[in-house]
Amino acid sequence: MGLDRFEYGFPDPQEEDLKELCACTYEWCNNPIYFGEINWQFDGEWFCSSACLAKYLGATEYEAF
Ligand SMILES: [Zn+2]
Repeated sequence: MGLDRFEYGFPDPQEEDLKELCACTYEWCNNPIYFGEINWQFDGEWFCSSACLAKYLGATEYEAF
C-alpha cells in the first residue's frame, strides 16, 4: 500500500467551508468525513457508510441463493 493518504492539498474551492474530521476508517475507501455530516461511528472510528463499517468488520456482500 502506501497510498493511504492523499493530502497533497489539491484545490477544491466549492468544499472550502467543509471541515474535514478524518477519513473513512475502512482502508479501501478513505472517503473524507466532514464535521456536521451524519456518518457511522463504531468503537471511536468513523465510517462514511454502513457498507464500509460492515466490510471493516469483515462482512461481505453476497447474493443470496
Ligand atoms: Zn467509506
